[in-house]
Amino acid sequence: MTLRVTVMTIFPQMIEQYLTSSLLARARERELLTVDVVDLRAYTDDPRRSIDDAPYGGGPGMLMMPEPVLRVLAEEPRIVQPVIGLSPIGSTFSQADAEELSTLEGFTLICGRYEGFDARIEQRCDRLLSIGDFVLAGGELAALVVVEATARLLAGVLGNEESPREESFASDRLLEYPQYTRPRVIDGREVPQVLLSGDHAEIARWRHSQRLVRTLELRPDLIQARGGISAEEVELLH
Ligand code: SAM
Repeated sequence: MTLRVTVMTIFPQMIEQYLTSSLLARARERELLTVDVVDLRAYTDDPRRSIDDAPYGGGPGMLMMPEPVLRVLAEEPRIVQPVIGLSPIGSTFSQADAEELSTLEGFTLICGRYEGFDARIEQRCDRLLSIGDFVLAGGELAALVVVEATARLLAGVLGNEESPREESFASDRLLEYPQYTRPRVIDGREVPQVLLSGDHAEIARWRHSQRLVRTLELRPDLIQARGGISAEEVELLH
């Protein structure tokens, strides 16, 4: 199945250029992903192609006018539901959201610019997503974050060697275990013996315990969100 994504932006080249990067290019080559980029400036009647206007009530900066976006949503056949607005006021995008989006037929992302959207654009969206508690100049980077995090979960996009199953935030919502490659020793720091043992059951136990240790230390909020640690996991920590 192909995931169909449409991105609405005033900077189509920012999206298109990144789509040539390896993972997304591979997903598109394998027809697992399509990304249609809609240039919002093509949908304004303004002779100067401007799509921003001053806010009612005054205040600094300009807002994205509602008409071009609403017109695209009404007229453009490439729009795929749900329609997602990228905004700092949205819910914070997570791996669980990427997993959910990867199961859909597709979705549409709207990139804001200037001081953001006229509120009628927000009201027309099925949901609003933020990529974190900070303010970017535009939604294009946020759109690429959402597309890449989602596309890499599609079956066939990653090779086996890059399987996402035991990654940070995967099904059991823990951080990834520490990983090592050659050399065995560098600056006096050694690869843990268990990884050299060839005992795959023991390696799996060690890795799970390390995921717990790391998450408890670095992201205790994740442990709380998953409802704590099971009795078997407590055993692993001893
Ligand atoms: N005035 C807005 C506010 O205070 O919430 C910020 C507008 S921001 C300068 C312009 C656009 O960048 C937004 O409409 C949105 O599309 C995008 N943007 C900025 N930060 C973002 C974030 N953390 N997540 C998703 N999109 C973001």
